[in-house]
Amino acid sequence: MTTAPHETELLSRIPNRLFIGGEWVAGEGEKTLDVFDPATGQRLVSIADASPADGLRALDAAVAAAEEWAATPPRVRGEILRRTFDLLQERRDEAALLMTLEMGKPLAEAQGEVTYGGEFLRWFSEEAVRITGRYGDNPEGTGQMVVSQRPVGPCFLITPWNFPLAMATRKIGPALAAGCTVVVKPAALTPLTTLFLTGLFEEAGLPKGVLNVVTTSASAKLSDPIIADPRLRKLSFTGSTPVGKALMKQAADNVLRTSMELGGNAPFVVFDDADLDKAVDGAMAAKFRNIGQACTAANRFIVHSAVAKAFADKLAERVRAMRIGRGTDEGVTIGPLIDDKAVAKTGELVDDAVERGATLVVGGHALEGAGSFFEPTVVTGVPFGSDILREEIFGPVVSIVEFDDEAEAVRLANDTEYGLVSYVFTESLARGQRMIKALDTGMMGLNVGVLSNAAAPFGGVKQSGLGREGGAEGIHEYLSTKYTLIPNS
Ligand code: NAP
Repeated sequence: MTTAPHETELLSRIPNRLFIGGEWVAGEGEKTLDVFDPATGQRLVSIADASPADGLRALDAAVAAAEEWAATPPRVRGEILRRTFDLLQERRDEAALLMTLEMGKPLAEAQGEVTYGGEFLRWFSEEAVRITGRYGDNPEGTGQMVVSQRPVGPCFLITPWNFPLAMATRKIGPALAAGCTVVVKPAALTPLTTLFLTGLFEEAGLPKGVLNVVTTSASAKLSDPIIADPRLRKLSFTGSTPVGKALMKQAADNVLRTSMELGGNAPFVVFDDADLDKAVDGAMAAKFRNIGQACTAANRFIVHSAVAKAFADKLAERVRAMRIGRGTDEGVTIGPLIDDKAVAKTGELVDDAVERGATLVVGGHALEGAGSFFEPTVVTGVPFGSDILREEIFGPVVSIVEFDDEAEAVRLANDTEYGLVSYVFTESLARGQRMIKALDTGMMGLNVGVLSNAAAPFGGVKQSGLGREGGAEGIHEYLSTKYTLIPNS
């Protein structure tokens, strides 16, 4: 399959350079990197490949614009975000197609991401004018205490490939609303959506230097000097836990504010009093959205032994009906994985579970031919100790283990160093309330498989990260608190 003419036409309009100080520039040495379609393996376009010096130039621009942007009225900052939201709605079909082309998710899901990702622009356009502090007499009665909020200063935002739009807007939205200027580094695998979004910000009238974007094939080399630069004040990262840990160590040298949205290993607990149809609907969404490549993806299905077979059978029936293919094709519900490495890793996890005694109910194999495809898969009776229960699968594989009582379910669910999200299915309100307290995760879906919302605080505990994105909390990641004492005169 080759790129269709309307796809080629869209790709030809995407900026293919770095965005520094309000200008689209080629970067040092005019080096380029290629972006591929994971469904075909074909090159889509070549874009600028930034050097470490380009990264520092982007930081120079963010630093130069910082004072003026911080002093820009919150209403004006909010209106620019709102205009960008409106432009995104007008061009939503283009944004969705672009994501499907570079990342592979089915078009309907890409449309869903435009809605979800766009909401961060609208939400934070509204939050920009609600940055408040407090005021009061000190306890001694000798003066007034004023607590105010200030932008933290220039930020470095690093985003992953799996949600190319939403992971960018979830950081850029609150940073700009708070009055911070930013350097954004998208993943080399899916940089085009960020470049497209940057074009919308430019069209919306964002002042030069407030948003700078560097695409690179050498993320560590480019990032190291930016993080080491004392002018940087904040690092916000979404990606894997090992890279997050390494960046936290680097950030310590400058005592940077950090936000870390890291990996997950979500438990999906189905009790014997669950509505099984609701649980299967939830499982389909929690597992197969984004081809299983979400930090929030259900990773371990922990199902009561009395309903485990019925749950697996119903789920397998739905999985058999899925249509695998290029995300642009009509009726496709499962696209390719991001690359061949991801296919190989998914296969290894399934093979390890089966070798240890798990039963393969459906799927289990990579597809032959072009593109990075892996069949949607269900494995049951997964033995404890299997890699698939410990590692983030990041592929379309349901792995089911059984339990017999509530305490065991809680123990199994919490048996991980991660703590991003959990899913619980029960028709008992009392049990649901006990689970809210017992499960060690930053978020929980009670009888639902997808819960992300721009108005909600997204984030994890344990090794899933630090800080929250979205909600009223999101903007505080980009604000620092200042206390002033005014003695009575
Ligand atoms: P990744 O390999 O950690 O990469 C994430 C980002 O960091 C990319 O932009 C990557 O650029 C960059 N990067 C990698 N090594 C770096 C280094 N040494 N210095 C600076 N930047 C570096 O993760 P991924 O494979 O893209 O994304 C999948 C992971 O993200 C999963 O673990 C998933 O759970 C997690 N995730 C978490 C959330 C959340 O909100 N908690 C949301 C989405 C995804 P290059 O790829 O160009 O090298």
